[in-house]
Amino acid sequence: METMTSKRTKGAGALVLLLCFLMSVLLSACGSPAAGAADELDGTATITKYYTYGAFFRAEGTADLSGLDLTAKDIDGAALQLRTGNGEEDRISFDVPFSVSGKKLSFRTAKHLDEGLCLDTLETGDTAAFLELTGKDGGTTLLALTDGTGTEKTGPQDAIDYYTLPYGHHGHRNVTTSFERAGTAETLVFHTKRSRLPKDVYDIVVDPGHGGKDPGAQSGSYKEADVVLDIGKKVADDLERAGYKVLLTRDGTEDPNVNMAYTEYDKDGRVNLTCGSRAKLALSLHLNYNDHSSQNGVQIYRANGAGDDFAKSIADELVAATALDYSTMAGRSVNGVYRRTFSNRDIREAQSKARQKGYTFYRVSTSTDYYFMIREYGCLATGAYVDGRNPDYGTNEYRTFPQGVESCLCELGFLSSEHDRQTLLNDQRSIARAMTRAVDTYIAGLHETPGPQTADLLAKETL
Ligand SMILES: [Zn+2]
Repeated sequence: METMTSKRTKGAGALVLLLCFLMSVLLSACGSPAAGAADELDGTATITKYYTYGAFFRAEGTADLSGLDLTAKDIDGAALQLRTGNGEEDRISFDVPFSVSGKKLSFRTAKHLDEGLCLDTLETGDTAAFLELTGKDGGTTLLALTDGTGTEKTGPQDAIDYYTLPYGHHGHRNVTTSFERAGTAETLVFHTKRSRLPKDVYDIVVDPGHGGKDPGAQSGSYKEADVVLDIGKKVADDLERAGYKVLLTRDGTEDPNVNMAYTEYDKDGRVNLTCGSRAKLALSLHLNYNDHSSQNGVQIYRANGAGDDFAKSIADELVAATALDYSTMAGRSVNGVYRRTFSNRDIREAQSKARQKGYTFYRVSTSTDYYFMIREYGCLATGAYVDGRNPDYGTNEYRTFPQGVESCLCELGFLSSEHDRQTLLNDQRSIARAMTRAVDTYIAGLHETPGPQTADLLAKETL
């Protein structure tokens, strides 16, 4: 009997195990945050373009209101809804800018390139994304976000494969995107897992300007290229001590006869190096020059489409920790923060150069960033293009890459100013420390941006 009982128990045990296995398969299929929303979906919206800029994910898209029984007048707000599970508590929504023209609603996930969904704040596991429209009557319409980019995702050049920045006690995490079944539609899903940084992926790029045959600005015996290299090495050291993985675009061993302007786009040139690094932030270091030696101060240039936060953090820390002042030059958006886009004159000049050399000038507008260290490092996000497709230059292999580096061109001071020169030559350690603090401050701030809240995230991860 005992043998029988034990046999029966074993048989029952096996059956229970099999049932458990089947249940878990079923549960995991229904349990995915994308599939779990299937019953609530009212339709679809289409993502026409998506990419990352720095630590932010950004999508632009449209929704056809005619099939949804909605008009512009009915809609009160649009939000990106993120779901990590199927409970109420697993949802978070944040408002996104939108406009309606006729029956077409257009949306983007944030006003500025470096706002909105910070990928560093995603929980490990899957996060499904939806567009949620709120009606004036208080009702909501939930739309799946389908892929309307028209490009096949085949390789690293067109898929998002993002690595988070180190923050607090967190190690790195890897975020990839795909479109997954949600009932009859597919929606955007972020997959987040703990991961080491691959060998070729970095957190931050430090880019000492000029080099080789190009000395940059010169004042007496001082060359911009040499001074920013000294400072750049110290900044890189300091950032590494703070726990970041840093890529230095040149270390002074480059051929002194090489024309850096023509090699920026080589495979090992600063453009392809920076874009390929999948770093989140880049600091391009430069010094100003003016015939009037009284002109001085810090000017941090940011992308036209970005907000002021990162550049402001750099300018503020430099002014607080060194004898450098904010530049008084006109055109700043806040103290020490500037941007430069192509002027109509810049466009005319570039076009006439293209005609002379016999190549087609790439389409740029007065909102295109002028400095290549901002434009090209930002890849798709900043509308990167190859400088006039000049055959003397190489190619930016990453100009349509969906992962842009948030870059600031840091004019640390004027080499022509006696006042600035004292600091630029003799207080480089303080400059390096100030820049590291600026990076730390900015990254800490990223974790307070809309999106899944860091406090919750930290609590969950310690469990
Ligand atoms: Zn320069």
